[in-house]
Amino acid sequence: MNRRLAQGIDADAAPQRVDPVVAVVALGANLGDRAATLDAAVTALRALPLVDAVVTATPVESVAVTLNGPDAAAPAYLNSVALVTTRLAPTVLLDYLHAIEARHGRERRTRWGDRTLDLDLIAYGDVSSSSERLTLPHPRAAERDFVLAPWADIAPDAEIPGRGRVTELLAVAARTARAHPVSASTDPAHTEVAPGLQEPQS
Ligand code: AMP
Repeated sequence: MNRRLAQGIDADAAPQRVDPVVAVVALGANLGDRAATLDAAVTALRALPLVDAVVTATPVESVAVTLNGPDAAAPAYLNSVALVTTRLAPTVLLDYLHAIEARHGRERRTRWGDRTLDLDLIAYGDVSSSSERLTLPHPRAAERDFVLAPWADIAPDAEIPGRGRVTELLAVAARTARAHPVSASTDPAHTEVAPGLQEPQS
């Protein structure tokens, strides 16, 4: 992709410098070799143009919750969070996330159904957006401990713009939820995370 288009710069506009922004990406998988899929997704994130750095959290495993509620019989999820320092425009980054999902055979037949790989853009700096294509911050992130716990693990002072500190949101979410860290990791530098619970992913 043309570098200026990737930065969301109008071709007719005057050239401008784009500062890197930290984007928060949530990763989830409940089919196949989940740890290998998350590792491959992180490798793909690192290979994107205009991405300077990617820091990932220890994955957490938890029970899938479908539209009908928690389903212990369904394959459990493995979730992680990546902090992506990038100069990609948010919609361009989302397009890349969808391309990485597609490469891993993601099918979108059932809302909140099983998936090989799900990538959500949780936040992009302090940008707010309410379009159907891209809502920022992600509208359900503040209640999802499988996002909040790994995020707090790698960014203890993080905030969801307009919602509050991630650690405080996690404490609220954890009162009604349980999950546990697993040994599989997308980054050997990770530490283990606090308990959390899987919720429907979309
Ligand atoms: P998914 O749940 O990944 O299948 O995404 C469903 C739809 O949500 C896609 O069409 C996205 O364009 C849209 N969407 C809106 N906001 C976001 C966001 N923050 N992160 C990921 N997808 C989003």
